[in-house]
Amino acid sequence: MSTNPDVANAIAAAGRDLNSRGLLASYEGNISVRLDSERLLTTPTGVHKGRLDPGEMVVVDRRGAAIGGGQPSSEIKLHLAIYEEREDAGAIVHAHPPTATGYAVAGKELPRAALAETVAMFGCVPVAPYGTPSTEALADSVREPIRTFDVVLLANHGAVTVGADLEQAVERMAQLEHFAHIALVAHLLGGAHSFSPAQVDELSRLRQSAGAGPVPSACYPAADESGNITLTRKELVGLIADAVRRIR
Ligand SMILES: [Zn+2]
Repeated sequence: MSTNPDVANAIAAAGRDLNSRGLLASYEGNISVRLDSERLLTTPTGVHKGRLDPGEMVVVDRRGAAIGGGQPSSEIKLHLAIYEEREDAGAIVHAHPPTATGYAVAGKELPRAALAETVAMFGCVPVAPYGTPSTEALADSVREPIRTFDVVLLANHGAVTVGADLEQAVERMAQLEHFAHIALVAHLLGGAHSFSPAQVDELSRLRQSAGAGPVPSACYPAADESGNITLTRKELVGLIADAVRRIR
């Protein structure tokens, strides 16, 4: 328990940071850090994230039961589900960044394969199906996407990020919002221009050279996004033969 005060101070600082950067408002959102294989430290429920008191943080066990007073975040089920799916997760941030959440509320996917750094860092950003906040349904909705992705939008709700540590989880939330802002500007200017699959391959190699996994196949542009299609040699020969037959 000796490291708890440091971790509690770091969570309070992260809350102020998220609040001052407009990534959540007042009482919204929640933060947790894995203390060890059995325990998490989380923000308490119903407190202003810009005014967190380190002394109020709540230690919970793997089932979400508070160890020694305080009531944990209302989204503790969401955090527990993610730690269960991701052994590598050291910290989790749930927030409502306004531009990215706008996409999740509008039911619009953030453009895939459109911004170099986002592809290299996140692959892409999936949207988990809607689940009522604080319920098992919301927790279950993120299990599948969070196995592959570090940043997930929650339909009609917000976003969640995981990090090896708290700073990484917070910065991923900030990067998500920055990307969503760029995507919105690109949309206003006529729409994002997607990479070709070969360009995504190059970004995937860049990502792997930094120690991450390859860009997941779900992040490659759909044929109609890049304007490119992929055919086998046999399909191409068949199409040409068909066209020649029609000319004759
Ligand atoms: Zn929320």
